Amino acid sequence: MTDTLDPKDWRAFRATAHDLLDACIDRLESAAAHPWQPVPETVKAGYALTGAAHGEAETAARLIAEVLPHGTGNTHPRFWGWVHGTGLASGLLSEMVAATVNANCGGRNHGMIHVERAVIDWTRRIMGFPETASGVLVTGTSQATVLALAAARHRALGPEVRHKGLQHRLTAYAGEGVHNATRKAIELLGIGADNLRRIPETEAGMDLAALRAAVAADRAEGARPFAVIGTAGSVDFGRFDDLDRLADAARAEGLWLHVDGAFGAWTRLADPPWRALSDGIERADSLALDYHKWIYVPYDCGLCLIREEPEHYAAFAARPAYLAGHGEGLAGGDPWFCDYGTDLSRGARALKVWTAIETHGAAGLGAAISGNCRAAARMGATVEASAHMALCAPVISNLCVFTADATLPPEAQSALNRQISEALQLEGTAVFSTTEAQGITCLRAAITNHRTTPADVDAAIAAVAAKARALTAAGAPPLQTDGDQDVP
Ligand SMILES: *Cc1c(COP(=O)(O)O)cnc(C)c1O
Repeated sequence: MTDTLDPKDWRAFRATAHDLLDACIDRLESAAAHPWQPVPETVKAGYALTGAAHGEAETAARLIAEVLPHGTGNTHPRFWGWVHGTGLASGLLSEMVAATVNANCGGRNHGMIHVERAVIDWTRRIMGFPETASGVLVTGTSQATVLALAAARHRALGPEVRHKGLQHRLTAYAGEGVHNATRKAIELLGIGADNLRRIPETEAGMDLAALRAAVAADRAEGARPFAVIGTAGSVDFGRFDDLDRLADAARAEGLWLHVDGAFGAWTRLADPPWRALSDGIERADSLALDYHKWIYVPYDCGLCLIREEPEHYAAFAARPAYLAGHGEGLAGGDPWFCDYGTDLSRGARALKVWTAIETHGAAGLGAAISGNCRAAARMGATVEASAHMALCAPVISNLCVFTADATLPPEAQSALNRQISEALQLEGTAVFSTTEAQGITCLRAAITNHRTTPADVDAAIAAVAAKARALTAAGAPPLQTDGDQDVP
């Protein structure tokens, strides 16, 4: 008889696991002391696997020493780059249980399936979708977009599309600021990126007259317009389409309305005025959103929510004999999640969301979301009040996009903003990313960070100002030019 892979000495394993848990808790408790830093070459090289066995205790020690310290830095209170969720201590609780149970949530009849249904049902109610809706948890909004647009494609072309593939040219429509995830989904579904029409945007989101004109032109050419993708919270500037008006337009044109609400859908939990940004989201045919951004749960977890369950099921269901369901027993538990997406084996992603909601409640999560919008507004006001800085776009929700010195020519501003972003990251002061507005590379903060305080905002903007002074004073600025000590 060979050994199992279980620990040989459970008492020793218990001590090892407790030590590791303590190290994880220490790390989270001191998150403010641990900004992102580059991974040392020796550490990177040390990850290489030889295939030799080292046992639990030695492996746990390596996890603590060599893995735990080298994260993305998105647990730090001044991390605002791209759109990163910041994690929750409750994730430690759920991930231990998820690893222990080791559920496969493709289907069958067990607890985690019911946990996932509870998470989807809670979200459905928050988003105002009807009881006819169905959902499935996926890695994130990128995958959710593929699933949602596959259902839209199925509505447009019928069941033949699953057998014969695309027999007609489909066209879809989205604002110019649409996330790349939509383009990738359109490509993957065989529709082709050129058939994703970019519609100009006004202050109120997509220009609906331009949308109608584009749809008419495509119809006249014999294409089949099938979907319009609205955005609730654009990745660049935090803009929102007017979803009520977009829903009216989609209905009038007979288009499937998909909403990318990756982070912005969660303004549903925010205080006024931010809540109203996502009004009308309840009218979408499908919605993609993330829990790992603005519900802050550990990576990864998103949701594909579809208004009418039969349309969701029809796009994916296919069960060969070896997956046949049975009424009672473990093979019961219909519906199975594998019939609502592409994954058969699936982990218990729902548990970290369920644990977060149970721990903090809708009100606690909503307060953190509103706090992030307040922090972005504070950042915007501070920028506007400063001598040289200027906003590059209005602050609408939780994003602030600005330039460190609007008095410089555009080229010089772009160079300066890029250098500041890099320098503050390397110093561990704050993480801004960059984006383009009116041809200028701007600094960009997307605040999906429940650890950010007003003092963090003030300190980071002061650091930007100081860095801008130092770099412009130095002329052609090397990154290390830094005599400023006002950086916390
Ligand atoms: C992050 C994001 C996506 C992609 O979501 P993932 O969870 O990274 O797959 C799509 N749309 C918007 C607006 C986003 O912010």
